Amino acid sequence: MNLRQNLLFKVKSIELKKIVSPIPVSTYFGQDTFSVEIMQKHVSKNTFQAFQVWIAEGKTISLAQAKEIAGAMKDWAIAKGATYYTHWFQPMTGLTAEKHDSFISFSGPGKVIEKFSGNKLIQGEPDASSFPSGGIRATFEARGYTAWDPSSPAFIIESTLGKTLCIPTIFISYHGEALDKKLPLLRSDEALNKAAVGLLKLFEHNKGVKKVISTCGAEQEYFLIDKHYYNLRQDLIMTGRTLVGAPSPKGQQLEDQYFGTIKERVLNYMFDVAAEAYKLGIPVMTRHNEVAPHQYEFAPIFEESNLAADHNQLLMELMKKIALRHGLVCLFHEKPFAGINGSGKHLNWSLADDQGNNLLNPGNTPEDNLQFLAVLSAVLRAVYLHGDLLRASVALAGNEHRLGANEAPPAIISVFLGQQLDNILNMIEKGVKSKVSKADIMDFGIGRLPTLSKDSTDRNRTSPFAFTGAKFEFRAVGSSQNISTPIAIINTIIAESLDYVAAEIKKAMGTKKDFNAAVLQVISKIVKETKDIRFEGNNYSEEWVKEARRRGLPNVSSTAQALETLAKKDNIALFEKYKVFSKEELVARYHIWIHMYNLTLEIEANTLNEMVNASVVPAGYKYERLLASALDKLVRLKKSVGLKVNAQALNDKKIHLTQVVSSIYYVRRNTLLMVKLLEQAKKLSDKKRAELYFSQLKPLMEHIRKHVDQLECVVSDDAWDLPKYREMLFI
Ligand code: ADP
Ligand code: MG
Repeated sequence: MNLRQNLLFKVKSIELKKIVSPIPVSTYFGQDTFSVEIMQKHVSKNTFQAFQVWIAEGKTISLAQAKEIAGAMKDWAIAKGATYYTHWFQPMTGLTAEKHDSFISFSGPGKVIEKFSGNKLIQGEPDASSFPSGGIRATFEARGYTAWDPSSPAFIIESTLGKTLCIPTIFISYHGEALDKKLPLLRSDEALNKAAVGLLKLFEHNKGVKKVISTCGAEQEYFLIDKHYYNLRQDLIMTGRTLVGAPSPKGQQLEDQYFGTIKERVLNYMFDVAAEAYKLGIPVMTRHNEVAPHQYEFAPIFEESNLAADHNQLLMELMKKIALRHGLVCLFHEKPFAGINGSGKHLNWSLADDQGNNLLNPGNTPEDNLQFLAVLSAVLRAVYLHGDLLRASVALAGNEHRLGANEAPPAIISVFLGQQLDNILNMIEKGVKSKVSKADIMDFGIGRLPTLSKDSTDRNRTSPFAFTGAKFEFRAVGSSQNISTPIAIINTIIAESLDYVAAEIKKAMGTKKDFNAAVLQVISKIVKETKDIRFEGNNYSEEWVKEARRRGLPNVSSTAQALETLAKKDNIALFEKYKVFSKEELVARYHIWIHMYNLTLEIEANTLNEMVNASVVPAGYKYERLLASALDKLVRLKKSVGLKVNAQALNDKKIHLTQVVSSIYYVRRNTLLMVKLLEQAKKLSDKKRAELYFSQLKPLMEHIRKHVDQLECVVSDDAWDLPKYREMLFI
């Protein structure tokens, strides 16, 4: 038995621990967060009021008040056993970062006190020089600052050796430029708020509305595999995905004697994650997602976007950490295994006002419906005009395997509305009424929009931007991504369209006088203009790719090319207008993300090179030797003792050996070419390098993989060290 086979044996005999949780969730939900309710109990009335004004209107609290809150937060955290605190932030790499500090300060020789000042709550100064800034921060002012985001509650994270108070923060440069993903999201919420309130105010029944927020629920897909396999797969460790591996043959799916235990193991894991998430106030529900073997999903209950984004990052960290406790590894890569379903993050997005209304929920009155259609038309227009930005918001190396690759949805952005809504819009578009009153709207068929049941809207699972009853679902987001940027981009482009719709309505009122008629006229015009972005059919079909081309919709499968739109003049102007990104901030992101794409591919290629040389080729040689000596022996025995050997059988052995020899040859030859290509790329700029990697390196890596996988299928099981697909996915 080789190492791999040995492990297989281990995995098969894993015993499950029973996790029993007799405590009802309601007793511990949110117990590890410094929630608004807890804060209220521990600070003075005045300070709490000031804090609330800060959250609602952005008027900052005084330093004395910050001190008071910091003190309460510290006492609460220490009572819960925390000894450290950290500013928790989201640098542009997409991970989260922390810099831990102890609560302890030295007050004199040999004397310590527990201290955590208001200053330290509000602002931190991590050694930031190692985080990418895309040129925003010159090296001579390498400082970056973290600043408290009071809208997201602080929380306590437990590790084996202790507990840490984590304070959600933004991360900015000395001059205030955003070095993270959170600040642009907060800014985009502000832009959206202004625009949405502006539109709502035009409607008589909304006079009381003061604030609109975006809401979000990100369904998180992931794979789980046994840690033993993971440790033997260099590619999973280094890159998060398998760079080689033959598909599992049919029938292997039915190793059901182990399937039962797998399920229970995973279930235990899910309960454990859910319990930890609840403590942090993250409202998740577990889901079994049987699309691919060992692929699952967590779906949260939606929250305010900023919170949803923080919680999604936090949830991913918990999921990774807790998996290890269960002897599992949680994979977030968009395509860990070739040939089977990849993982995404369905971003459910909507708008809510401070009166508790969901703006994407058609109502019961004509006014509600007209408003719903106005908001809907703004969404259509935003996606129609800025599909390229949506595409850019999900552009990363991992997602390239999902979008526009051969076994995934195309990279074409379109909107699915469902038949009912589609029909209604078609009717409005063709409507010939020139004078429309409330009663006429009834005639028009939209006085009482049918309840858009999920059933009627959710049938099409292939659309990248689908209306799924009272919300839109952006499905192109990658499973490993931080959702802050996609949300910030959605918020911004929709803010712009909401402004446009409001301005058009005002204009139309000048000529029409009748408000409803004016609104309907604007909606109808937008519906007409944006028709090309709507698609109700199968997005995975070849016909759609052709049809989309005819309509002039972009289909950009290259990450680098998709990112280019961020550096375009119009887009810079758009983000500057809405104060979400300055020109420098946007261009910096463009550079960082292209650079990260290149780094990812270089790590992949180097890992593949090493695996080929250290594992695959030696296994090939071992088997080659075995075959050669068997053949040699037969031929000799035939000669020496006249062994009767069937000529065809002998020939077959020769063919087999030749196949193995040539597979090894192709693997080696292409790997050498790959190394040369990497060498060549070193001279190129990031942009040119990304182009080369997309057009040449990736196909070459696929080519190498094809031959390696062929080899895996013929080489003796004994010689093959790398855990196989059928093992990782089914046992
Ligand atoms: P499905 O079962 O098809 O996935 P659900 O209605 O259960 O659809 O919701 C899926 C996700 O959408 C959940 O995470 C949920 O919290 C989120 N969601 C529901 N309503 C909204 C909303 N108004 N805004 C944002 N997200 C929402
Ligand atoms: Mg979904």
